[in-house]
Amino acid sequence: MLIDRLKKIVGEAGWITDEQTLEPHLTEWRDTWRGRTLIMVSPDTTEKVAKIVRACAEVGTAVVPQGGNTGLCGGAIPDRSGKQVLLSLSRMNRIRSLDPNGHSLVAEAGCTLGSVQHAAEDAGRFFPLSLAAEDSCQIGGNLSTNAGGINVLRYGTARDQALGLEVVLANGGIWNGLRTLRKDTAGYDLKQVFIGSEGTLGIITAATLRLHPAIRNPKTVLVALNGVGQATGLLAMLRHRLSDRIQAFELIPDRAIRYVSRHFPEQSVPAPDHPWFVLLESVGDEGDETESSIMVAIDSEVAADAIVAKNRSEAEVLWLMRHTISESQKREGASLKHDVSVPVADIAAFIDQASSAVLACLPGTRVVPFGHAGDGNIHFNLSQPREMDAEDFLSRREQLAFVVYDVVERFKGSISAEHGVGQAKRNDLKRYKSEVEISLMRTLKQAFDPNNLLNPGKVIL
Ligand code: FAD
Repeated sequence: MLIDRLKKIVGEAGWITDEQTLEPHLTEWRDTWRGRTLIMVSPDTTEKVAKIVRACAEVGTAVVPQGGNTGLCGGAIPDRSGKQVLLSLSRMNRIRSLDPNGHSLVAEAGCTLGSVQHAAEDAGRFFPLSLAAEDSCQIGGNLSTNAGGINVLRYGTARDQALGLEVVLANGGIWNGLRTLRKDTAGYDLKQVFIGSEGTLGIITAATLRLHPAIRNPKTVLVALNGVGQATGLLAMLRHRLSDRIQAFELIPDRAIRYVSRHFPEQSVPAPDHPWFVLLESVGDEGDETESSIMVAIDSEVAADAIVAKNRSEAEVLWLMRHTISESQKREGASLKHDVSVPVADIAAFIDQASSAVLACLPGTRVVPFGHAGDGNIHFNLSQPREMDAEDFLSRREQLAFVVYDVVERFKGSISAEHGVGQAKRNDLKRYKSEVEISLMRTLKQAFDPNNLLNPGKVIL
């Protein structure tokens, strides 16, 4: 029987069937999706992952890989049949090697993002991927979703941090592609196919990651704006003056700051009275170039006001406020998230048009657009109207999503900038991608997983 075989592969410490212990693994972060599972297995070696996948493939049972379960699209949650096997990578959490001079490390998929950052830091290096869930999400999950976060502007997404991968394939075979090469044009770049595929093409068990020199003199500034339109002008001006030293550029509406103050008063910041803010970080500033550039921005009316963090602890207070926005919004009642991207130059026009369209569709909706404006990535989130029933609001999910995505489409943007598709957007994908793209994706899925056993029902139907 499959269950007995799986238990034998992973040993006593490596499986759970008890419903209560399984609960956090079967519920998505916002409780939007719930699933059931035959068994959750937590192998601690790549060979055991391969054996599990092979055993499941032999009897036609689907496998759902799960990292830190912080994904926001339901990708790591099994369906409700109770017949799928949940494969947690949590026990594969070793840093296998670190080469400071070669600027790389090899991490197993279950290492939390935070632990990878710390390993790099301990070696005097910098791993730039950074996001609010970094102490829970895992590097395997980050690569499988091609995560973004706050430092994409300077360093790129998770995809740009990977030099090589080790992957268990749908037939239980193992591809060892843990190379450290900076250049390799020998054929198709297979690692890129697995990155961002959300566990539908293979199970990432380890990755070689690119490290960077440690950053020097980071400076954090909260800049107040008179209108969202100032954000792109400010970014262009700062990049012109400071070149690639702007590392993060996060757009925050005053409503989000109020949410944080209301639900986490200890994390509130003394923000001046303005409708929009940008939280930015520059690095490598030997003098006061950042401050003087901000002064020029205020003088030339590209910005209204600014709070410059005087030291790292003041900077951390500002970043904690930014990282608490999602949690605060959760406490404001039901919310609908739209993780979208548009060309950077169109951010203001997009926010303006999408906000009007949403309010025309459902008056009273509280629009909370925030996020990685330096990458054109806006979390166009909606909080329920105050007096509306939460369930009624959530039942409008598809209608409101189409309202937002139709505006995204007008700007030639993407309906998923960094959170992926999972089960949340699998139908939306068909509506907003061309037939050619959908057909090529299906061809890939068929080639890598012909029996549809790896995370079926996610990304592409
Ligand atoms: P999971 O949620 O466990 O899984 C995500 C998907 O990857 C699933 O489809 C799963 O099947 C698959 N998967 C997981 N591990 C593997 C593996 N080893 N091999 C193959 N497939 C696998 N995301 C951003 O990009 N930027 C942000 O700024 C950001 N901020 C966030 C803030 C908060 C408060 C929260 C809760 C989430 C945030 N996220 C953000 C979303 C989430 O943290 C990322 O998507 C993250 O990369 C998911 O990693 P995980 O380990 O939790 O993956």
